[in-house]
Amino acid sequence: MATQSLEDYLEAIYNSLNRRGHAKTNEIASDLGVKAPSVTEMFDKLRKEGFINYKKYEGVTLTERGREVAKDVSEVHENIKKFLELLQVSPKQADKDACKVEHSLSEESIDQLNKFIDFVERCPEEEARWLKHFDYFSAHGELPPAHRDKRDEGEE
Ligand SMILES: [Zn+2]
Repeated sequence: MATQSLEDYLEAIYNSLNRRGHAKTNEIASDLGVKAPSVTEMFDKLRKEGFINYKKYEGVTLTERGREVAKDVSEVHENIKKFLELLQVSPKQADKDACKVEHSLSEESIDQLNKFIDFVERCPEEEARWLKHFDYFSAHGELPPAHRDKRDEGEE
């Protein structure tokens, strides 16, 4: 079983439990865009490997071990998504791309990304102004008027 799909399933179960209060086969199938029998099969594997508890018709819950993996993946997902949104990627696209990238980053990149998002969120407003300027730059292709210096004007 590829680590990627294992993590995708645990993440989907985690999100479903948080959002719906339960995670049933059909719900996870529709969340992941796969067929119900594939979910049933994966649930069976995850249960055997000690990641989930599975009761037919009632859906699944995460074991301690499953919850730990899911929480890690979910944290990385959120931070990649936030990072892409800082780049002015739309929330929907950022969410999709986060799921593609979350499994491929090295531990070093993940650590630094987590630190960066933490920094941006704790940074005082004035200090993070350059990020707002990027919003303008992204939309207009140039710096906000108050920040264009004479040299830039001259080059135009
Ligand atoms: Zn994800």
